[in-house]
Amino acid sequence: MSLKGKHALVTGSTSGIGLGIAEGLAKEGVHLVLNGFGDPADIEIRRKQLADQYGVQVVYDGADMSKGPDIARMMAEIAAKTGGLDILVNNAGIQHVSPVEAFPEERWDAIIAINLSSAFHTTKAAMPYMKQRQWGRVINIASAHGLVASPFKSAYVAAKHGIMGFTKTVALECAQDGVTVNAICPGYVLTPLVEKQIPDTAKARGLNEEQVKRDVLLAAQPNKKFVTVEQIVATTIFLCSDAAASITGSHIAVEGGWVAQ
Ligand code: NAD
Repeated sequence: MSLKGKHALVTGSTSGIGLGIAEGLAKEGVHLVLNGFGDPADIEIRRKQLADQYGVQVVYDGADMSKGPDIARMMAEIAAKTGGLDILVNNAGIQHVSPVEAFPEERWDAIIAINLSSAFHTTKAAMPYMKQRQWGRVINIASAHGLVASPFKSAYVAAKHGIMGFTKTVALECAQDGVTVNAICPGYVLTPLVEKQIPDTAKARGLNEEQVKRDVLLAAQPNKKFVTVEQIVATTIFLCSDAAASITGSHIAVEGGWVAQ
């Protein structure tokens, strides 16, 4: 079955992986709700470009994914306009790196809210419509850090492990309703966010940028290659396809062998 004409929300789709997934779904003929922060003029250019290029409806909602009531408002508006989502990609995420004893409470709360609780709020609101039409795809962009830990990322690793448990639980609840719920666990993807860290890390460690990429960022990835946004997009489209209808409560690790070690 083609995805043409289906409705999707991709949270955090103004940048990086989320923006790539939004474009990948638009290419398949899926109508979109974009979400995330950024310059309003840039977001409007992107929205219009996706709509014009792929002939799909694209709307933008700037709901703050750290705020449950704002998410509930967005989800109610989407349901009123579309009759309910077919595809939900929970992608919005942030990071903070610090030893636990110095970890700011406010950053802990924000990471748990955006990287974990937002998926509860969106899924809770989307699920009745998916069950009603006996078709749906929920895809949670977790991380290799949903499967293994690294030091100084306590909130991120806790949230990403949490979303793995949420994925499995909800999958069981809708297993007989034609709705699948899965996670994708990327390794390092060279998004603008990661790219920005490279010069600072090089300076701080007295390394050149190639050394930072190989010996710091890719230290845990045996293939020594960044995962590409395109690889995450293709995995998402696969999980939306009929071929993946029996994959649920599961995850696909796209991390160059990181968690095999
Ligand atoms: P990014 O910073 O490029 O994009 C994050 C998106 O989330 C942006 O659109 C941003 O505006 C949005 N966002 C942040 N806070 C928000 C909020 N409160 N409300 C609404 N939107 C908000 O990052 P990315 O690298 O594309 O990451 C996307 C997802 O992929 C995250 O969940 C991240 O944890 C995960 N991930 C990334 C990597 C990587 O190496 N880049 C690896 C594994 C997993």
